[in-house]
Amino acid sequence: VTLTLAACGANTAGNDAGGGGQEQADGGTKGVVGVILPETASSARWEGFDKPMLEQALRAEGFEADVQNAQGEVQKFTTLADGMIAKGVKVLIIASINSEVGSAVAAQAKAAGIPTIDYDRLNLGGGSDYYVSFDNTKVGELQGEGLVQALEGKPDGQQIIEIEGAPTDNNATLFHRGQRNVLQPLYDSGRFELVQSQPIDNWDNQKGGTTFEQILTSNGGKVDGVVAANDGLAGAVITVLKKNGLNGKVPVTGQDATPDGLKNILRGDQYMTVFKPIQEEADAVAKLAAALAEGDTAAADAIATDTEHDPKGDRDVKSVLLEPKLITKENVKTVIDQGYVPASDVCTGD
Ligand code: BGC
Repeated sequence: VTLTLAACGANTAGNDAGGGGQEQADGGTKGVVGVILPETASSARWEGFDKPMLEQALRAEGFEADVQNAQGEVQKFTTLADGMIAKGVKVLIIASINSEVGSAVAAQAKAAGIPTIDYDRLNLGGGSDYYVSFDNTKVGELQGEGLVQALEGKPDGQQIIEIEGAPTDNNATLFHRGQRNVLQPLYDSGRFELVQSQPIDNWDNQKGGTTFEQILTSNGGKVDGVVAANDGLAGAVITVLKKNGLNGKVPVTGQDATPDGLKNILRGDQYMTVFKPIQEEADAVAKLAAALAEGDTAAADAIATDTEHDPKGDRDVKSVLLEPKLITKENVKTVIDQGYVPASDVCTGD
């Protein structure tokens, strides 16, 4: 199958995702802001989008940006944090592997007088005063709604398999909650039937594929729809569906609007993804960091006007929670038009 540019609409301008923004000439004079990202393999977003977009947004606020990735290793996460705290970063931005390491790092920074911001993933029981993310329950609701749309008109008893994110990531809990806000009434009524719901440690895509395959096999090869919590897991599920000649027949959800996810949508193998404009997330956290670096909590509070509840710490964290968008074949073009993914990455190839 060749995906023509026409499938994406008329706009074929090769917009560059991230890294290409305006930078202030004085970038760097306000000191260093450190960012620690969690992984590379679980989603293309962290290296492909967050890293360049955070670097650009922080520079635009006049900081030098030090963005590192812990590659899924808790020990590495701690070591990176030690280094950043020792060199006296103005603010530490934390996208943690799990709440324990994220909270420990935040406490250590706080003791050194460095303000911290939880980025994308809230550290449950942690001590960061601010949090920047998307409305993650809404993300899950969009996934549920997408699946319902895809199975419209099909007979009752549609068999659904859920492949969920890491149990140690609070976001995975929120995604699942949002999905169930939509799907539970349908499971209860018999409109849909839940075959099995399985969390995947570390969002490990490969493990997601083998887990899905096992569930499919023990269900006699029968499945009508798959909730996959992100595009990476969706890709692994689609590989298994292909082996069974089921791709394109069984709708699969996703998240992150990655180039691979968008391609799978255009091919008809994935029904939807959730577009989270990470540039907005990066811009918000950079503005918040600028306020906190000045010790201006009034300015920070004026930015972080939402709240996210931390059930473990029993506290409400001042937050910026951005709007996710549902993407199907019909509107892949919006992701391209916003310059998030260049058309050349999505609309061509096999
Ligand atoms: C992020 C998702 C990402 C997943 C795996 C979540 O915390 O919100 O965008 O797909 O982690 O990296």
